[in-house]
Amino acid sequence: MLTDFLLTHCLPMYFTADTLVFQDGQFTSAEQAQCSLYAPSLHYGHAVFEGIRAYQTANGPRIFKVKEHYERLQYSCRAIHMPLNYSVEELTDITYQLLEKNNLSNAYIRPLVYAPEPMMSIKAPTTSSLFMAAWEWGNYFSNQLTRLTISPYQRPNPKSVPIEAKVSSHYANSIIASHEAKQRGYDEALLLDINGYVAEGPGANFFYEWDGALYTAPAGNILQGITRNTIIELARSMGVPVFEEFFTPETLHHANGAFLTGTAAEVVGVASIDDHVFGTPYEETIGAKLAAAYSALVREEVGARRTRPVAERPA
Ligand code: PMP
Repeated sequence: MLTDFLLTHCLPMYFTADTLVFQDGQFTSAEQAQCSLYAPSLHYGHAVFEGIRAYQTANGPRIFKVKEHYERLQYSCRAIHMPLNYSVEELTDITYQLLEKNNLSNAYIRPLVYAPEPMMSIKAPTTSSLFMAAWEWGNYFSNQLTRLTISPYQRPNPKSVPIEAKVSSHYANSIIASHEAKQRGYDEALLLDINGYVAEGPGANFFYEWDGALYTAPAGNILQGITRNTIIELARSMGVPVFEEFFTPETLHHANGAFLTGTAAEVVGVASIDDHVFGTPYEETIGAKLAAAYSALVREEVGARRTRPVAERPA
């Protein structure tokens, strides 16, 4: 996953002896937070989560698109019949408290809703627990491009599982595909959908560019990323046409460039897909301009950063 790509460079410290997490209605020490080994979420992957980022801005710590993330968490819970007893406003409030209590501003936030009661049958739970942790996630910039390979694994069939929900069990598919790609010497996998069209990465959405326009897979077989939606809005505001349509891996041989999007890594340029190396230098692609615009937007530096060339960003 893209997150893996970052972890190998940043190695975050998830918690220390002083870290507080939120679990079941209260803030508690990360070292003391517990979960039963008989919890069905652990056995069956029946749980939902979010990956959210907070940024230090001139107006203090700001959680980017917090409403969208918590609306998606609520949708994910509904989609897998997992109860959730928190409103978007309550979740937002808990998250800002969590950041404050841990003295975090540039952070990655991980809410997880799981079934805590010991139960070894395949029944939807009647109660759920909310766990929320946050850890330092610095301003990580890289001009390093990623090398993708078309995965032999497809994204899960949307007629088998609610693919637009962020469900823990879906990530078995992500881990398997990502590991397989790395075993073959690539950085990351690019997965197709059940019909053979390009879908997304194991933990990120995929865009390619051709002749001044952007193309990305439509809703239906992908997780509709919040970063993806932001990038589409940014591109259109810059006058770049964006098409959400199905395309085959062969189409990519004619592309000028490509990039992945996700909350953790923001926008990551793609160097190559299998043997096909993109001809246009990444710095000259729409993806590079959007990466700079996205970085400025999330850090509320719009105007100051938007025009700054990618090459000048700190490594
Ligand atoms: N697709 C998958 C499979 C993901 O896990 C993620 C990361 N949440 C994304 C796309 C990107 O989503 P977002 O931009 O909301 O982080």
